[in-house]
Amino acid sequence: MQYNRILLKLSGEALMGKRQYGIDPERLQEYAQEIKQIIEKGVEVAIVIGGGNIFRGVAGASRGMDRVQGDHMGMLATVINGLALQSALEDEGVPTRLQSAIKINEVAEPFIRRKAMRHLEKGRVVIFGGGTGNPYFTTDSAAVLRAIEISADVILKGTRVDGIYSSDPEKNRDAIKFDFISFDDVLSKGLKVMDTTAFTLSQENELPIIVFDMNKKGNLMKVVSGESIGTKVNL
Ligand code: UDP
Repeated sequence: MQYNRILLKLSGEALMGKRQYGIDPERLQEYAQEIKQIIEKGVEVAIVIGGGNIFRGVAGASRGMDRVQGDHMGMLATVINGLALQSALEDEGVPTRLQSAIKINEVAEPFIRRKAMRHLEKGRVVIFGGGTGNPYFTTDSAAVLRAIEISADVILKGTRVDGIYSSDPEKNRDAIKFDFISFDDVLSKGLKVMDTTAFTLSQENELPIIVFDMNKKGNLMKVVSGESIGTKVNL
């Protein structure tokens, strides 16, 4: 395996499958099976899950809701998704712990870095819910933050496109896919990988990001074993 400890970022929308809202149990099961395969190879897996399939603070704010209130709802949405993913992984026999950035002790452990690292060493998947615990941030920022904190080798951003393109491949047939790209080139070309806060945090801490299509069976294993699929953003 190319990577020993990874942080997998899954967006909330990825959990919707073909639905318009919420969680698709089949998609969840597929993801759990993909994750199980890399756990069996001894890879240490931490996951940050988004909440966009349930609620986003900015969406609430655009309809007049207080932004902070909406962000609290978004953070709770990530805990709901974390619980769903935990349950799907445990159905596959994968041991897990859910740690939350906001205190919700009856439901999830609080985020404690040393504990998280101990769980990983024992082969448990650690799911980080609640984002960063702060409004005005995203779960991409949480993913980078947690990845740095636990010294992950790489952040894997599972999406529905198979990498980073020179322009939107769904709109432009001439769009070119990059296999590798530098942080500087992403910024100078104005490409969108993560929000700027998350992206620069990754760059400053020299944490590589791989963007890949998580919906294709076997892709997660390929990425972790070092096959060149998706796009790798590096220094
Ligand atoms: N959120 C937040 N602070 C964080 C992470 C998330 O307030 O550190 C809230 C925010 O409202 C966000 C929502 O949770 O819109 C869901 O997270 P995100 O939009 O990152 O989910 P994704 O797009 O990955 O599904």
